[in-house]
Amino acid sequence: MKIIADFDKCEGLGMCEAMANDFFEVDEDEDKVVVLDDSPTEADRGHVFAAVQACPVLALTLEG
Ligand code: SF4
Repeated sequence: MKIIADFDKCEGLGMCEAMANDFFEVDEDEDKVVVLDDSPTEADRGHVFAAVQACPVLALTLEG
């Protein structure tokens, strides 16, 4: 499974970080998400998927 972030869409709103701060962090200077680990294991699918779905501008996709 792979996390894809669309940095053109991301507005740095931080919902993803709030839901899964082990995978997402907002860069305060750039106001863009930083994906800390783009290859979550099956064990993390639940909360990573919840974080992806929480993005209000649909900047995140989970593949696989
Ligand atoms: S929730 Fe979406 S817009 Fe907000 S930081 Fe994460 S990817 Fe960017």
